[in-house]
Amino acid sequence: MRKIAFGYSTRCNIKCSHCVAADDSQQSRPVKMDLERAKEIILEMGEAGVTGISFTAGEPFIYFDDLLQLITLCHKLQIYSRVVTNSYWASSPEKAGERLGKLKDHGLCQLRMSFSRWHQQHVPRQNIVHAAKGCIKNNIDYFISFVTDFSEEDDTYEQFLRDNTLKFFPEPVIYAGRADGFTQKPLFTDYQDNRCAMNPYLAPDLTMYACCDAGSHFTTTNYFKLGNLKDQSIDALFCKSENNQLYNCIRNIGISTIASFAGFSAREIVTLRKCELCKKMFDSPDSLERLEKAAATDLPRWIR
Ligand code: SF4
Ligand code: SF4
Repeated sequence: MRKIAFGYSTRCNIKCSHCVAADDSQQSRPVKMDLERAKEIILEMGEAGVTGISFTAGEPFIYFDDLLQLITLCHKLQIYSRVVTNSYWASSPEKAGERLGKLKDHGLCQLRMSFSRWHQQHVPRQNIVHAAKGCIKNNIDYFISFVTDFSEEDDTYEQFLRDNTLKFFPEPVIYAGRADGFTQKPLFTDYQDNRCAMNPYLAPDLTMYACCDAGSHFTTTNYFKLGNLKDQSIDALFCKSENNQLYNCIRNIGISTIASFAGFSAREIVTLRKCELCKKMFDSPDSLERLEKAAATDLPRWIR
């Protein structure tokens, strides 16, 4: 199943200090796709068998009328649509209801709200409640991404979501973009496979990446950069992602096993987040070269 994160614009109305999408050289000059080109791309995506589009990057509600047109097109093409938002627009139940009613009429399938101690420095937490209740009222599926670094400071935020009986899922902060400079506390978790689905990300400048999170920031090797729609078709870039042997090892074997194969000790692996491990292995030219060779020979057989 082909799914993609669609970055229509990098513009956002707020400036969260943990923002993975932020590139501060870009943030001063946000990039936006041309609306007609975005529609053509969605048509191409339909032809290429894309079944799900998540509108993300900056804040999609800033271009609300454009968003409605893109959602309508997804609906016509029977593509599952999701919008990721900081809910700044849901300042009252009435305002939330008005926007969500329109989105429902245009065929939106799901709303994903971002919530964290960083977002809520800019957006009142009650907005999340208005947006969630508005989704329930308008019969739109929703969930909340509770972004956390697992510190005690976040407990009251989590409790707020529980007190309001909202559907939420904790999501670890990704230490890339603006959060690159955050102090990272070592993790000590179970030894997990850390398989990664690797849904691609299309940026507003039409560059497509094989990974929609930290991987678009691996600028030493640019390992996850697939190419640009100005030169290649959507289908060709998806095929590039699907046929890459090492990407398939990330999807099927998992980052921890690849790291162990590459020589990382088990003790070190359990202290690192999966994107950090990815960066160490794939944003280093020597390590990447070794692993690409291994992906064509021994690595796919490194399974139980
Ligand atoms: S994390 Fe989301 S809401 Fe916050 S600045 Fe980045 S794009 Fe905007
Ligand atoms: S683990 Fe690797 S492939 Fe997965 S989101 Fe992180 S950087 Fe991307």
